[in-house]
Amino acid sequence: MEALLEDLGQRMADGEINALEAVTLAVEAMENEPLFNAGIGSVLDAAGTVTMDASIMRGEDRAAGAVVNLRTSQHPIRVANHLLKQGWPVMIVGEAADVFGEKQGVQQIDNADFVTELRQAQWEKWNLNTLRPGATDEDDEAALDHDLEDRPGMGTVGAVALDIHGHVAAATSTGGMTGKPDGRVGDTPIIGAGTWADGSVAISCTGVGEAFIRTCAARTMAFHHTSMGLEDAAEAVLDEVAPLGGRGGLIAVDTEGNVVLPFQTMLMYRGKYEAGIVDVAVGPEWERNDGAVSS
Ligand code: ASP
Repeated sequence: MEALLEDLGQRMADGEINALEAVTLAVEAMENEPLFNAGIGSVLDAAGTVTMDASIMRGEDRAAGAVVNLRTSQHPIRVANHLLKQGWPVMIVGEAADVFGEKQGVQQIDNADFVTELRQAQWEKWNLNTLRPGATDEDDEAALDHDLEDRPGMGTVGAVALDIHGHVAAATSTGGMTGKPDGRVGDTPIIGAGTWADGSVAISCTGVGEAFIRTCAARTMAFHHTSMGLEDAAEAVLDEVAPLGGRGGLIAVDTEGNVVLPFQTMLMYRGKYEAGIVDVAVGPEWERNDGAVSS
């Protein structure tokens, strides 16, 4: 994570890549990392297979791309990026989205190749609970990856960036929630719910998707940002999401260079690059690349 932030941060500072490409590359790298719930290492749905969602938005002109229920595209976020650049439509689903990705040169792999032992084990556990006579509704609920005690913090992935041109972008990618029913769509591919970017702020959310959809969380935060500033806007939106059962977190950057990364899950693995300094954290405390720790 530190090396990735260092590399992309430096390339943005040099003007080699813009915010849109930086968030795409950051998310692609996390889709390759089997511990995160995106791309390889995605959680398994009720049928025990991988279905992935992703979206991306460019702030300067609000161009967006969203893909739903991909099964074979190795990098869902790159498929969304191609869709954004094509300009129309904004959202495509299922096999058509994988076919579009393939035509754009996004590597296609077998669905089974996304499945890791860890995710298989999590699914077996979920499946056992579901089948157990007398299991409570809570046991039956689709599981949120940021809260799983055996692999905490390694959930849905997202990136936001502000480039040297003063433009922001946001990207989010996920396998969704363990045990999600066939055809379920979470907040991640919904522009305004899981992802948002406009002329002043970029936001990427994670958490129980249904609550983020019902509050249009990312767009609501952008709306509050104009009057409240970034920190209060983030708090306000998470407070609105929480009563709907929407435990989660978000990352956001504005065109002034303010950054927030609040979360209500047990942990959230996160990092930031600012003027050559990299900070990473999993729990509430931050660790800097100079070894200092802050809260
Ligand atoms: N928001 C994602 C979804 O509901 C899950 C997550 O962020 O962990 O599909």
